[in-house]
Amino acid sequence: MTRSLTVLGATGSIGASTLDLVRRNRGAWRVEALTAHCSAAELAALAIEFDAKLAVVGDEGCLPELRAALGNSGIEAAGGAKALAEAAARPVDMTVAAIVGCAGLAPVMAAVERGGTIALANKEALVSAGEVLMQAVARHGATLLPTDSEHNAIFQCLAGNRLSDVVRITLTASGGPLRTWSAERLHAATPAEAIAHPNWSMGAKISVDSATMMNKGLEYIEAYHLFPVGLEKLAIVVHPQSVIHSMVEFRDRSTLAQLGPSDMRVPIASCLAWPQRMETQLPALDLAAIGQLTFEAPNEALFPATRLAREAIAAGGAAPAILNAANEVAVAAFLAGQIRFTRIAALVEETLARSNDAPPPTSLDEVLAVDQSARRQAMSLLENSALV
Ligand code: NAD
Ligand code: MG
Repeated sequence: MTRSLTVLGATGSIGASTLDLVRRNRGAWRVEALTAHCSAAELAALAIEFDAKLAVVGDEGCLPELRAALGNSGIEAAGGAKALAEAAARPVDMTVAAIVGCAGLAPVMAAVERGGTIALANKEALVSAGEVLMQAVARHGATLLPTDSEHNAIFQCLAGNRLSDVVRITLTASGGPLRTWSAERLHAATPAEAIAHPNWSMGAKISVDSATMMNKGLEYIEAYHLFPVGLEKLAIVVHPQSVIHSMVEFRDRSTLAQLGPSDMRVPIASCLAWPQRMETQLPALDLAAIGQLTFEAPNEALFPATRLAREAIAAGGAAPAILNAANEVAVAAFLAGQIRFTRIAALVEETLARSNDAPPPTSLDEVLAVDQSARRQAMSLLENSALV
């Protein structure tokens, strides 16, 4: 049976991995909508290849280029934030949410509000909107399939088990490319060094998040919402080989772990085929060749981001949205060469400290307002600290 699919963020790393799986299982899928920020030529090529009904650019300024690139293909084109949400609201069997950042929140919410099944890679949406998004999921009977490799691992380990039997969920972290660096070297780390991830090939933003460990901080908050066992049962361990993607310990002291190659096509395939399984044609995991799996505690003195995330979710309310917004601003500034690597977490911490009276958001609009206000705060801190 053919199933319909929309990919939000089709031109990104997760989008490419998703479409690669679809390409290998062409008869199983009919593509409804593909979206991108701009990259009009790339988006049009994908829309034509996959015979999508609709192609949408989030940046309306790129719409003329998209139309030109689609030519006389007959594929509908649209642009702007509203068009993105409308694309996400079209009924499909599966929505892959792979926009990066809080920019993906409104489209995710649109897919949730129609009660869809959503493979959620866009962790920033869940970090920012936490309770608001999870309540909407429950209210509209939507299904969130965790696509982030750690959360997908946990989801698989929990299958057939009761949350009340869980004593600990442990997120594994590779530690990123700068894991073994000294404080002095970290201070001078360049964008190229920070995005050179040893195990995963990913978009620039999440690669920097991985280097600062903010990715694990965001994932800690993501896990809190997806698997409501309480913060005291969530833990993080550094596992540089990225073979175990996370683990769940039960009260009888059994620990279940999910292992696999560090290739996002594995968790994406698990979502696309859920509750069944599909072929990925990836090389099998060769544990003898890998040789050793090692574990160490996170170093929060050098990589404070996980502490900031733990504090933000413990504080609750607007804090996670502020953390996320400030981090997005800081990462963009780092990638643009405006601030040093070690300023990223510092900027997040300062933004949180200056926004501690923000009321808890109770709707999508309120989350977006917190996000915008935290961005302004972070930008003004940036202006006062450029090149520090
Ligand atoms: P990416 O930068 O490679 O791709 C992002 C996609 O979103 C692109 O299609 C881009 O055009 C689109 N986009 C960017 N800004 C937009 C905006 N303002 N409006 C509309 N569209 C916009 O990112 P990625 O690495 O594929 O990551 C996507 C999401 O998945 C992120 O939230 C990331 O944290 C999460 N994730 C990624 C990986 C990975 O391996 N890449 C793993 C786990 C989770
Ligand atoms: Mg992850």
